[in-house]
Amino acid sequence: MIVEEQLRAIYQGQIERLDEAVSVRCHPISRGPVGFVWRGVWHPVDRILEWGRDDLDSNIDIFLVSTESEEVFALCRRPGSPGRGCWWWLYYRVLRSEELGFFDRRLRRMLVDLELKRMADMNGHLCPDLAIGWRVGLVARTILQDDGEIVAGCMSCAVEALKNMGPWRLKVDMAQGRHMYQVRSGKDICVNLEVSERFTWPDGDLALLEQRVSRHEASLEEIAAYQARIDEQIQEILSATDHELFSDPEQNRLLGVACIGSA
Ligand SMILES: [Zn+2]
Repeated sequence: MIVEEQLRAIYQGQIERLDEAVSVRCHPISRGPVGFVWRGVWHPVDRILEWGRDDLDSNIDIFLVSTESEEVFALCRRPGSPGRGCWWWLYYRVLRSEELGFFDRRLRRMLVDLELKRMADMNGHLCPDLAIGWRVGLVARTILQDDGEIVAGCMSCAVEALKNMGPWRLKVDMAQGRHMYQVRSGKDICVNLEVSERFTWPDGDLALLEQRVSRHEASLEEIAAYQARIDEQIQEILSATDHELFSDPEQNRLLGVACIGSA
C-alpha cells in the first residue's frame, strides 16, 4: 500500500464520502484504531498510513487507515459521535484504482522513465531528491567511462539513485554543499553539477507547509495537497533540460573546472 498514491487520490477527489458513525476498537495504549464495524462488517485495521488534524477543529485527529481487505478509510474520534468512547466518525473511503475509469487510472500514475520507476520501487518512494540523483547519473554516464567517481554533497535519496545507476565509485562530502555533485574521471576531468536554486527543495510557502506536516499540525487535505506539490516538483525536475537543472554543466565541462578540494 503506497501512501503517496492514497494522498494523490484524496487530492484528486477520488473518494467516496461516507459520513457515518462507526463502532471502533482502539489500542489500549496508543489509542489508535485497531478495527471498526462498518455496515455490519468488522474491518481490522492493517496499518495507519497517515494522520492529520481536522479542518475545522485542530484538536481532532483524522486517521488514514488501510484495512486487511486493502481498503483505505479516513476516520476520526469526534465529539458528537453517538455513545461513549468507541464511536467514531467514518469520513470517506479512498477509491481503488480498479473503481476508476481507464483515463482516471492513467492520470493517477506519474509518467516516469522505467529506470527511475524501478529505482523508486526499490527506494520505497519517488521524491525530488531521487529524481535529481537520476538526472545527475544520466549526465555522469555521458562523462565517465568504466572508471570514475561521483561526490555528492549530502546523504539523500539522490545518493540511493546514484548507487543503482553506474559502475562509478560514490562518495559523500558534506563540505561541498548540499546541492553539489562532482563527477570526476581520473585527474583531468571534473564536472561540477550544482542543482539550480529553483529546483532545490523546499522553498517559500512549501517550506511552511512541510513544517506543518512534519509537526502533525496539517489536515489530511493539506497533507494530500503537499504530496501534489511534491509531484509537481518531481515533474519539473524531470522535464527540465540539463542547462536548466544544473548551473551550466556544459561550460564546466569546456573549462575543465578544478575540483573542489583538489589542488
Ligand atoms: Zn526521498
